[in-house]
Amino acid sequence: MFKNSPLPMRALAGLVGLNAAIVVTLAPALAADSVKVLVTIKPIHALVAQVMGDTGTPELLVGGTASPHTYVMKPSDAKKLSSANIVFRVSGTIDAFIDKATASLPNTTDVVALALAPGVTTLPQRAGGPFEPDHHDSHAHGLHEQADDHDHDHGAMDGHVWLDPANAQAMLDLIAAKLAVRWPERAALYRSNADAAKSRIDQLTTDITTELAPVSSRPYVVFHDAYQYFEKRFGLVVAGSITVNPEIPPSGQRLAKLREKINKLGATCVFGEPNFDAKVIATVIEGSAARGGTLDPEGASLPPGPGLYENLMRNLAAGIKGCLAPS
Ligand SMILES: [Zn+2]
Repeated sequence: MFKNSPLPMRALAGLVGLNAAIVVTLAPALAADSVKVLVTIKPIHALVAQVMGDTGTPELLVGGTASPHTYVMKPSDAKKLSSANIVFRVSGTIDAFIDKATASLPNTTDVVALALAPGVTTLPQRAGGPFEPDHHDSHAHGLHEQADDHDHDHGAMDGHVWLDPANAQAMLDLIAAKLAVRWPERAALYRSNADAAKSRIDQLTTDITTELAPVSSRPYVVFHDAYQYFEKRFGLVVAGSITVNPEIPPSGQRLAKLREKINKLGATCVFGEPNFDAKVIATVIEGSAARGGTLDPEGASLPPGPGLYENLMRNLAAGIKGCLAPS
């Protein structure tokens, strides 16, 4: 019945079994100069886009309002990964969802962990005391409702490294260097794009430092402990974190404990995130002296592109200031 087929059955079966990397390599639609730079999440995608400038657009894995902490790879993501020449990621603690797929990539694919870039300062995840364990490395949110002293994350790196602008500058250097290895003829352009981006970040840092100076002593509480890089750089006082499963409203007993904690820490504000149900935040702060606010450390609510990094940082500063010192 396959008499018209140019290939015998066995060869067909073999073709079907070829891995995605080879199939993509054979696809004729890929132009020689097509974009083959893939970035895992929006904040670092913006940095890569600034370095690439007019030479191309990096592809983004976690788009839309998705959170990297709960992201699950789709089959189309595996295809994007296997067709990329360079993959820029943060580190295993933020974009661990690509670990399995990157392990099977050919060694011609450069996978660059930007958190490990020379000059990047990393910090261990906070836990204990006023800091409740984060949901980052676990989908078992419900467990944290009871397990306040659970410390499985202790010692792991806090992956939100881009929130220190000095780290973003160090990452820009590595991005330019890695792109230059792949496309040496564009090395000077990548270098000058990175330098221009670093200058903009200098200005950004100056602006945010000025903006936040008046509120630096006012304590606040966060639902997602993403901000220690930002706080250390800009001298803010985070009093602690609280963990609430956004999908399961906290029990009355848990709510009472959370309010007690917010009051004890003297928090002026309690910050949630765009993915977080505002009603849950409102319920938690009800009856406490704190106001509620929203911060977006991963750019979930922002359109991706070269301008996202600066928007993200300025929005954080404005969100923090707006809640701590409402005008
Ligand atoms: Zn996060």
